Amino acid sequence: MYGAGDVRVEKLPDPTLQDATDALVRVVRTCVCGSDLHPYHSLPATAQGRQMGHEFIGVVEDVGSEVTTVRPGDFVIAPFAWFDGTCEFCREGLNTSCLHGGFFSEAQAEAVRVPLADGTLVKAPVGEDSALLPSLLTLSDVLITGHHAAVTAGVGERTSVTVIGDGAVGLLAVMAARRLGAEQIVLMGRHKVRTDLGREFGATDVVAERGEEGIEKVRELTGGQGTSTVLECVGHLPAYEQALGVVRSGGVISRVGVPQYEQAPAGPALFRRNLTLTGGPGAQRRYVEELLPDVLEGRIEPGRVFDRTVGLDETPEGYRAMDRREALKVLVRP
Ligand SMILES: [Zn+2]
Repeated sequence: MYGAGDVRVEKLPDPTLQDATDALVRVVRTCVCGSDLHPYHSLPATAQGRQMGHEFIGVVEDVGSEVTTVRPGDFVIAPFAWFDGTCEFCREGLNTSCLHGGFFSEAQAEAVRVPLADGTLVKAPVGEDSALLPSLLTLSDVLITGHHAAVTAGVGERTSVTVIGDGAVGLLAVMAARRLGAEQIVLMGRHKVRTDLGREFGATDVVAERGEEGIEKVRELTGGQGTSTVLECVGHLPAYEQALGVVRSGGVISRVGVPQYEQAPAGPALFRRNLTLTGGPGAQRRYVEELLPDVLEGRIEPGRVFDRTVGLDETPEGYRAMDRREALKVLVRP
């Protein structure tokens, strides 16, 4: 990406092993993320450009001498961060705070160097032609992110949930909340095709209105007090303000949309009503391991969020289609 709206496909040198703990992964599927659209709207023009993409599944081509858990030929899922799996944060399950980790940003490509391969990569027993590839790719980001929202909000059988946002993360936050047993799940989104998919994923109610009108609707649907949890899957300030409006006193707001603001009401608005604010990046290995059997055994089909597939050369068109909302989420086939 060379600047807002300027995505180009270029030939770069192949990545190579640099550390003994690296793996080289040939990318079988990658995709464009809603969060890639933020720089697509705002990145200042640059001469050198920057590589893009943080979601990928693929086949291990080579490993460094210290890698023990994956071998060439293994099919693997990479969460959108890399991590050692052994530091104090990794042992607590918070891999995105790994003391030696980082975040991928070069996955819209034919191959990726994966640092700390033993901590990062999760093997999946599938072939490159598996019909499950789209669903497996959601374990790289959008499903584990939606799941993270639900887990950090404490969604369970007795919680009511509002999900804000009908992008892929929002729809899969609905799926995750349903999977964790939530009975009432209100999905706030304006695009009927998407919210219809959200209903199939488990939303019990859909509210298309936004702002005060939307808040009023959610309150009507929930006995006047809002829901005990809110999963904010957008990242813009109005979505956060909407979350404050629909959360029940004593409840939890979990944000997994990357915040595009520095300042937001966090004083009396949270304090007065005993609200908890949580959330953050969800690329935790335990989520991949927990959700993988459900995907492999067909209990969930999160890959339904992909509604367009392009070749690597057509990636710029993939960005355009998602930006114009002609596509919900674009799968890229290198
Ligand atoms: Zn770590």
